[in-house]
Amino acid sequence: MKIVDVRSYVLECKLTDEQSFTWAQNRVDKRVTTIAEVYTDEGIVGLGEAFGFSPMAIKAVIDYSFKPLLLEENPIDTNRLWDKLYTVTRMEGQKGIAIQALSAIDIALWDIKGKFFNTQTANLLGGKYRDKVETYPTGLYRRDVPDQTQALVDEALGYLNDGYTAMKLKIGFGLQDDLQKIRSIRKAIGPDVRLMLDANCAYNASEAIWLAKRIEDCDIYWFEEPIPPEDIHGHLEFKRQVNIMLAAGESEFTRYGFRDLISQRAVDIIQPDTCGAGGYSEMMKIIALATTWNIRCIPHVWGSAVGLAANLQLQAAMPHYPTSLKPEESLIEFDRSPNPLREELVEEEFEMEGTKIIIPTKPGLGISLDRKALQEYMVA
Ligand code: CA
Repeated sequence: MKIVDVRSYVLECKLTDEQSFTWAQNRVDKRVTTIAEVYTDEGIVGLGEAFGFSPMAIKAVIDYSFKPLLLEENPIDTNRLWDKLYTVTRMEGQKGIAIQALSAIDIALWDIKGKFFNTQTANLLGGKYRDKVETYPTGLYRRDVPDQTQALVDEALGYLNDGYTAMKLKIGFGLQDDLQKIRSIRKAIGPDVRLMLDANCAYNASEAIWLAKRIEDCDIYWFEEPIPPEDIHGHLEFKRQVNIMLAAGESEFTRYGFRDLISQRAVDIIQPDTCGAGGYSEMMKIIALATTWNIRCIPHVWGSAVGLAANLQLQAAMPHYPTSLKPEESLIEFDRSPNPLREELVEEEFEMEGTKIIIPTKPGLGISLDRKALQEYMVA
């Protein structure tokens, strides 16, 4: 089998004022992503997605740098092709856009591999630990409403009512403001639901520690990205002083980036993004690295239905470390913010069983692009 074509698409979907929302670094008034397709001479087409907020640049890497290197290659050789693409873009790559582009290609190759061997991709990633995975909603963003606390409380109670056992609150809007929101949410949802915080790198270590010490009685399950990824010593200081699990990694890339976080025990939970950290080939290496240090991996998930499907196959193959009769079950991040690309881009609907998603079992990622939606949202 040979690769005969590589295509990439930049998709963009504007959100209405009511749909737009804000996180610590930005206001989101449109959803964007990059989708890649790899075509073979056997008629099998692989589908992948890149996580990243510069889709035009990701597309340029795929079209200009990667495509010529992939043509005529055997798509089954995923590790060798990963090395080839990584090495050629190392000068401008290593982290960021080049690795995001590489992630989309790698996922597409694993989709092809699954279709070629007529099995879901999870079976080729080491086999399945589970057929369905527990979700936790990522929502609780800030919106332009008069009473933000009430809006957040109402949203949290909605998740509680839907049966979710965990939810994540976006913070990073000022220490006092965060403190008040965290306390209001915990009070509203009661003690039985896991509550996570995500500051999206808004604080330095001293600020993050100040905040964390004041919310230790709020039973926070993990505190995500309190500090920017460049400041590994800040992470270590946070860990020394705070009694809340520290999670990070959506801004980190490849096994080389995670080596430093893991080997210094700078985090309790790593959160690599399958569509950003290097695709399945690299995720399996990052997970292997994490398991050797007994550090949990709960991947970051964002983007369209393609990225969700890619993550579901990974979740099926996600190991428990350490293992036991009753290990902590895997969790998948389930973005609940408005995103038509998550709802419309593939023909299949993801089946739910309560708050768990059933992992698709069709060959590869188990999805097919909705060409009408693709055309509707494609801008390049
Ligand atoms: Ca996050």
